[in-house]
Amino acid sequence: MATKYGGYMGKVLLIDLLKKESREYPFSDEERELYIGGKMMAAKILKDNLTGKEKPFSDDNLLVITTGPLTGSGAPSSSRFNISTLSPQTGYLTSSNCGGNFGYYLKKAGLDALILKGHLERPTWIEINNDQIVFHEADDIWGMKTTEVQTAIDDKLRLKNGRVRKNGKICIGPAGENQVLYSCIVSNDRVSGRGGTGAIMGYMKIKAIAVSGNKEVKVVNKEKMVKLTKKWFKYLRKHPLTGSQLPKLGTAGLVSAMQMKSILATKNYKYGQYEDFEAVNGETLAKEYNIVNKGCLTCPIKCARTVSVEGKIVKGPELETLVLLGSGILNNDLKAILKWNYELDELGMDTISTANTISYAMEANEKGLWDNGLEFKKTDNLSKVFEDIAYKRGIGEELALGSKRLSEKYGGKEFAIHAKGMELAAYEPRKAVGLGLGYAVSNRGGCHLNGGYLVILEGLGLAINPTTYHGKADLTMLFQDLMEMISASGQCLFTSYAFFPSPLMNHPNSWYTRLANKVLPYCGFAVRLINKYPRIAHLHLPVFHHTKAFEYVTGMKMKFGDYVRCGERGYNLEREVNRLFGVNANKDALPKRLVECLQDAADDSSKVPLDKLKKIYYHARSWDENGLPKAKLLRKLKIGE
Ligand code: SF4
Repeated sequence: MATKYGGYMGKVLLIDLLKKESREYPFSDEERELYIGGKMMAAKILKDNLTGKEKPFSDDNLLVITTGPLTGSGAPSSSRFNISTLSPQTGYLTSSNCGGNFGYYLKKAGLDALILKGHLERPTWIEINNDQIVFHEADDIWGMKTTEVQTAIDDKLRLKNGRVRKNGKICIGPAGENQVLYSCIVSNDRVSGRGGTGAIMGYMKIKAIAVSGNKEVKVVNKEKMVKLTKKWFKYLRKHPLTGSQLPKLGTAGLVSAMQMKSILATKNYKYGQYEDFEAVNGETLAKEYNIVNKGCLTCPIKCARTVSVEGKIVKGPELETLVLLGSGILNNDLKAILKWNYELDELGMDTISTANTISYAMEANEKGLWDNGLEFKKTDNLSKVFEDIAYKRGIGEELALGSKRLSEKYGGKEFAIHAKGMELAAYEPRKAVGLGLGYAVSNRGGCHLNGGYLVILEGLGLAINPTTYHGKADLTMLFQDLMEMISASGQCLFTSYAFFPSPLMNHPNSWYTRLANKVLPYCGFAVRLINKYPRIAHLHLPVFHHTKAFEYVTGMKMKFGDYVRCGERGYNLEREVNRLFGVNANKDALPKRLVECLQDAADDSSKVPLDKLKKIYYHARSWDENGLPKAKLLRKLKIGE
């Protein structure tokens, strides 16, 4: 359906794998205005097609790959695309934002989104070139790891002149083929990591999709957008987080701050600090192993970095991998983590869920619940264990189920560190309780980003009281909604870091930063006011360039209040999809270790006061006491109309 708006290509394509047929999926401009793109567009498509009876591994599930209107527009960090589906890990909706080049080329092919339904009889890879779709047998590449398969596809796309046709790819590794519940989809060396999207692609028997085309993204106000982009790039490069910390050390730069704040997940989240943290922190990684900074297309931040593993130059580990395969399992061998990170990407497995499943298994073994041979500090055999998981061999077959299912079988639910079946990220939340709330209520399970990433205010950027419940629920809601919208627009969430004015970060002990830290927990009323009356924020904030960029690219009106409202709509829409599959307040839970056991025996506040936080959060969101959006709210947000 053609569109009057810029940023969109105006076409969503549905491929019915059972029939090997494709057709345009209707998505109107009215829907674009409400559901924007990315994960929100995907949630709308899932909501319209699922009833609550579907199983993740079934022909009724959909794999929805979406771009946002800013994808490919030239805006900073805007090469992102999203993959949503019914997660085999949680049974609820998962959405995973990826920085590979697939989204950019999907738009070059004239598509805003691709929906896959059903499954194929034989391993297949799909080639999309503008309007042409070809199904190719993939017996020769089935079984390949993720780098090898992408190289093999490039070879198949070689033109007569010997050059490879420019294309974007997604693929799965052996873990996806074998439907490991936390397997991922890979694009270049970037990963759509969470929720088991790779397993769904494996169920569909799709090894890879390559997409090419020669269409251009239309930008409505090109002149203004070029000016804004220049200014925005400059702003991001000057900001202490996006211009200094992330480019210098990547996300790994947070390890030392997490240690200081006692939020470094250690020994399966039993502790918040690790005595050998310096062996595995960002500074050591940069000093001893970094080769060069790397980033997604059009990104001035370039938070990724390359390292050398066995003579190959490969992507280095992100913070999550570093922590969870470091302090999480009491391992101080950084070189081993670099190798495992590479191996897991090659196998196509989520490093977070893999690491946390291993640390659960180590503790279960230590406690005598499950004799599995895995021990903290003893890490010499882990490469083999990862392979065994990917191929579901021996103990790997059990580990492939993840910590929730294993704890149901062997016991130890109190230390199986997951929310809704998805393992938590690397931040131990008992000394960052707002993040604890975010983990619990996150639509996709134990995710820091979908949870609002409040830890950035609770010690990693600003320093509001990390263990108070004051203000945490409202701020969580605000940041969830903002990130929902940034992601839906097709941009990287890290661009939101620059939301905090530089002086606050540069001068943490100044009177104004200390004042901000004191005042922020009491700003809940302002958040609720904006939610209720978005017109009072009918402006562009100087620190938040996203709204102007959205207007210049699409031609839609989008002031800050509208932006928050759209994000709110997206978050509630995902909750509505999950409602179909039985989500409620009981499912917004954390393991006992985090809500009942004090991290620090001398500090009564060092646990997540989850019940209290949830109550305030549900109220702030206008959800009922069972954690579900009220009918009045759904009407206000125009969900379900
Ligand atoms: S900040 Fe990092 S993850 Fe985000 S777009 Fe840039 S390089 Fe990619």
